[in-house]
Amino acid sequence: GVAGEITSSDVDKLSKYFPPCMLNLHLKLRENSHLKHGARMQYGLFLKGIGLKLPEALIFWKHSFSKQTSDAKFEKEYAYNIRHNYGMEGRRVDYTPYSCSKIIKGSNPGPSDFHGCPFKHFNSNHLLSFLTAASTSTSTDAESKISEIVSLAKQQHYQVACTRFLELQINDRLAKSRTNPDPASNSAISPLPSKVTVEGVSHPNTYFDLNLSNGS
Ligand code: SF4
Repeated sequence: GVAGEITSSDVDKLSKYFPPCMLNLHLKLRENSHLKHGARMQYGLFLKGIGLKLPEALIFWKHSFSKQTSDAKFEKEYAYNIRHNYGMEGRRVDYTPYSCSKIIKGSNPGPSDFHGCPFKHFNSNHLLSFLTAASTSTSTDAESKISEIVSLAKQQHYQVACTRFLELQINDRLAKSRTNPDPASNSAISPLPSKVTVEGVSHPNTYFDLNLSNGS
């Protein structure tokens, strides 16, 4: 789509740049063809923040729910809330995406809820397996880095843990581009890109922007 705007069909391929909280919601949406209200709010406003405009948001959610939900039921039960998030219903407030602190301090997810922050709301085993699956790292120290990140989360340093995970994703991509250098560039003289460090992540949309801008 146009720069700054995405279509419903872009969401799957962009999900590899999502922060863990939103990747989890995306995967659960794909797995269940449904998300409960709290999850739809958290994920829907994030998608709005990355440039999914209202018409595309309606297509995205309708299509994502279609295995479980007829179009008529979708219109009746879900479309209003989506338009509401975009300020087109009710008090016409143009809602903004949730910050990390809002998500971290928000209601604890129940057994079939998927909203929240994995660093806060997953137990250590679940967090470890989730981050291992989400990391595409092939480096030998990735496992120990992920263990450190899980320890940070256990010590309640949720956003620090998230920031370390973002650095891991970005630096892994840099390392891969280093092992497959662009043949047009003269690798004998071009310096290796230095490792990226990221200032504290305080918003899921910032995580996405940083990850995408260091994307290739
Ligand atoms: Fe999402 Fe923020 Fe938690 Fe990271 S720290 S997973 S961006 S809520």
